Amino acid sequence: MAAATVRAIVSGLETQHPNATTELHFTNAFELLVATILSAQCTDERVNRVTPGLFARYPDAAALAAVEPETLEPIVEPTGFFRMKSRSLVGMARAIAGQHGGAVPATMAELTKLPGVGRKTANVVLGHALGVPGLPVDRHVLRVANRIGIAEGDDPAKVEEQLCGKLPAERWTRTSDTLILHGRRICRPKPLCAECVVQDDCDYFHALQRLARPIRPAKAKAKPKRRGGKR
Ligand code: SF4
Repeated sequence: MAAATVRAIVSGLETQHPNATTELHFTNAFELLVATILSAQCTDERVNRVTPGLFARYPDAAALAAVEPETLEPIVEPTGFFRMKSRSLVGMARAIAGQHGGAVPATMAELTKLPGVGRKTANVVLGHALGVPGLPVDRHVLRVANRIGIAEGDDPAKVEEQLCGKLPAERWTRTSDTLILHGRRICRPKPLCAECVVQDDCDYFHALQRLARPIRPAKAKAKPKRRGGKR
C-alpha cells in the first residue's frame, strides 16, 4: 500500500481516537519501564492499581535493585505471572543501577539487553518517556494493521518495520497508541465495523461485504422454441 494511503488511513483513525496515548500511569522513564513489564498479559487498569504502592516503596532503580524478587511477588501478584515479573523487575533494576548509573538507557540496543525488556517494551518507553520515536507493536496493532491492509504478517518486528517505513518518525508512537485504542474499542476480535471511520479503506471490511452479498441463482436456460408451428 502506498505511503500516502497509509498516512491518510492513520489520520482517519486519529480523528476517531484524538487523544490516544498509553493508558499506563507514570511520572518518569523508570516508572513506565516497570509498568510496561507488569502489563504483559495484564490490563493497564490492573497495572495502574498496583504501581502506586510499588513506586512508593521502590521509587528508583537503586531501591528496586536492593530487594530480592520474592519480596516483590505479593505486590505484583495481581498482574499475573508474578514470579517471572518479579525476577525481571529486580534484574532490570540491578542492570540499570549497575551499568547505567541508575538512568534508563535511551537506545533500543541497550534497553533490549535489560532482563524482561523486549522490543515492544523498549519502544513504549522510548516513545512515551524518552522522546525517541518508537512504534510498539502488540496484538492489537497486529490485528488492526493486518485487517485494514496497512501491514502484513504476524511478526511484530516486520509489522513495525513496514509501518515505520510508511510514516514519518514523529508519527510512530501516536500511530501505535491509535491502533491499540482502535483495537480495544472498535476493531476488537469481533469488530464493530459499523462504528469504524476507515471502513471504506479496510480490506477486511470489503472482504466481509463480498461474502455477505447474496448469490444470485443462475438464470434458468430458456427452452428452445419449436419451429414451424403445429403439425
Ligand atoms: S472496518 Fe472493521 S475490520 Fe476494518 S478496521 Fe474498521 S472495525 Fe476493523
